[in-house]
Amino acid sequence: MTRAALNILTVFILLLSRCCDANRKLLVFLIDGFRYDYMDDLKNLAGFREIVENGVKVDYLTPDFPSLSYPNYYSLMTGRHCEVHQMTGNYMWDKDTMKEFLIGTNSDSRLPMWWDGSEPLWVTMQKRGKRVYMYYWPGCEVTILGVRPTFCEEYVYNPSEKNLTDSMENALNMLKSNKADMAGIYYEKIDVEGHHFGPHSPEIQRAIRSLDQAFQILNQKIKEKNMRDDINVVMFSDHGMTELKWMEKVIELDKYIDMSHIIKMMDRGPVVSLWPKQDKFEEIYQNLSTVDNMNVYKKQEIPDRFRYKNGRFVSTLTLVAEPGWFITENKDKLPFWKNGTEEAEGWQHGWHGYDNEFMDMKGFFLAQGPDFKTNFRSGPIRTVDVYNVLCKTLGIEPLPNNGSWSRVECMMRSSAGAVRAALIYSLLLPLLMLMLTR
Ligand SMILES: [Zn+2]
Repeated sequence: MTRAALNILTVFILLLSRCCDANRKLLVFLIDGFRYDYMDDLKNLAGFREIVENGVKVDYLTPDFPSLSYPNYYSLMTGRHCEVHQMTGNYMWDKDTMKEFLIGTNSDSRLPMWWDGSEPLWVTMQKRGKRVYMYYWPGCEVTILGVRPTFCEEYVYNPSEKNLTDSMENALNMLKSNKADMAGIYYEKIDVEGHHFGPHSPEIQRAIRSLDQAFQILNQKIKEKNMRDDINVVMFSDHGMTELKWMEKVIELDKYIDMSHIIKMMDRGPVVSLWPKQDKFEEIYQNLSTVDNMNVYKKQEIPDRFRYKNGRFVSTLTLVAEPGWFITENKDKLPFWKNGTEEAEGWQHGWHGYDNEFMDMKGFFLAQGPDFKTNFRSGPIRTVDVYNVLCKTLGIEPLPNNGSWSRVECMMRSSAGAVRAALIYSLLLPLLMLMLTR
């Protein structure tokens, strides 16, 4: 081989290795309870507006059923439906071990049994030698399938705006200095305000505006740090929020059944899990079948479209309320919230968890960065679709999942790496062949 041929071969290999290692850094935001239409007033939301103009916005993101947090946190990070990944509720009970999962607050919630049903993206990344930094992200403190992320700022209730902007700064620095390949930041305030004051309240408007200010800072920092071509930013929520007319629309179970016949009841609200005593099962089922504004399902009667019924922790009876209705044992057991200033107890004015096709339950999805089209409006996608998008930008082969690539492919820019590779092949390969045959 001539020296010239050798040189060309070297350049060729170098270019090829660069082009196909074009995996960029990824920054992900999980914004709890942010309904798809919360950013409709874009002219007054400069941070969101800039992201929308520079990137991709979907009409809405359909959550998995139940439209609750933990089930959807896991659907987002595994691309699998709840009955596949097994995280089927914010409150779960395992009848074999009698252990409880209580929205991540009890020590038993860290047991592998709740989490090992599927491998979330951050675990896959760590297994492949990549580094993931997570901030307040529920579950990052748990050892899942034997793995934890490189860094986990443990979840605290309702992280502050300063927690959010500090996390952003830290995450960007870690990504820029190659200490992290992916960073995930969780923010809860939108969900908290939505519950307390409702989705149409001035309080939720204020919370959205302060989140917008944080995103203005984010956009500014990405420019200052000269990271626009190196980082993809993807943001999404787990579910939406609907208005709750508390006290008017309450279903009190003890008006219909004797609660002493229930071995276990998990959660209150739109979806309630019941395990009745075996000899009372049919009676309980028949009595609950007469209740208005609610459906009762035996496990195998749960509609297939919920992709829920085959979950390992699904109860023998599942109650699903009509939108706006709230199921509880009785009104004394309604979950009030502490009103900080007066130490009074407040009513809840918003809730979620209902049928995932109910429009108010839909979440949002935005993405910007070198792998995404700009100013691109996409039709609706589903929670399980997000995983494939994240894997694509990271250059990670997705594990088998329930997401649809055809629903999200349109938002991706035809990979610059692939175009470059094709160009190099078509230009250099014939030349190389010619030199080698001389
Ligand atoms: Zn919530």
